Amino acid sequence: MARIFAVANQKGGVGKTTTTVNLSAALAAHGQRVLLVDLDPQGNATMGSGVDKRSLATSVYHLLVGLNTLPEVRARSEAGSYDVLPSNRDLAGAEVEMVDLENRENRLRDALHAVDDEYDFVLVDCPPSLSMLTLNGLCAAHGVIIPMQCEYYALEGLSDLVNTIKQVHAKLNRDLKIIGLLRVMFDPRSTLSQQVSAQLESHFGDKVFKAVIPRNVRLAEAPSHGLPGVVFDKAAKGSQAYLAFAAEMIERIKSI
Ligand code: ATP
Ligand code: MG
Repeated sequence: MARIFAVANQKGGVGKTTTTVNLSAALAAHGQRVLLVDLDPQGNATMGSGVDKRSLATSVYHLLVGLNTLPEVRARSEAGSYDVLPSNRDLAGAEVEMVDLENRENRLRDALHAVDDEYDFVLVDCPPSLSMLTLNGLCAAHGVIIPMQCEYYALEGLSDLVNTIKQVHAKLNRDLKIIGLLRVMFDPRSTLSQQVSAQLESHFGDKVFKAVIPRNVRLAEAPSHGLPGVVFDKAAKGSQAYLAFAAEMIERIKSI
């Protein structure tokens, strides 16, 4: 059975897409069968996987509104050795169209049933909002991975996300839990980073992943080559951190 994880944080630019793409490629490098779902109309996870969002015949939009089946929409990240449900700006329209659809918050969950035994991990890259698209990600998932930067306002935004996850858990998806908080773009020389990181550990305990992703320019450069960072430069510090994170995820799912 596939374990499905939403990578979510309503804050923009915190490293959701970088985490989804690199965790997918790192899990694949560890021998796992992975499907990446791009739920963001920006299509960054699609491009970062080496799939051209401008030339898609069908996208996750067509899947969510019921025009196409999952195998028809699925693409392959040759670079990352994982499958992709790609997205582009077509998906922006789904938000409005889905309002009238039956069971609108469970469209993704229902679509993923068809491939449940084909994957070990399904990773869903959510957009920076608590929208119907993110809700579809949260309703489909067994757990949420929350990437966050260790800066002053990070904790403030976190309470909104934690409340949303609690509500979805209570009303829509009893399986949903926070799998963990992932510290990203971490700068060990910054006192503030150290303080926020310590605060996170004292407040969330072992919900904070041991792996810490450093700020690393190789991770930021990789998407312009259509490659996940862990493939573009496997030896880079950021790539090594994502490979360690993938190993931690493989361990962690044994106990959930
Ligand atoms: P959005 O909310 O717009 O979807 P996001 O949360 O998905 O953004 P990313 O796109 O992954 O965030 O990252 C934002 C920017 O930070 C990108 O330019 C990315 O290349 C860069 N970035 C992410 N992680 C790192 C890192 N560890 N080191 C250096 N740069 C990083
Ligand atoms: Mg993103």
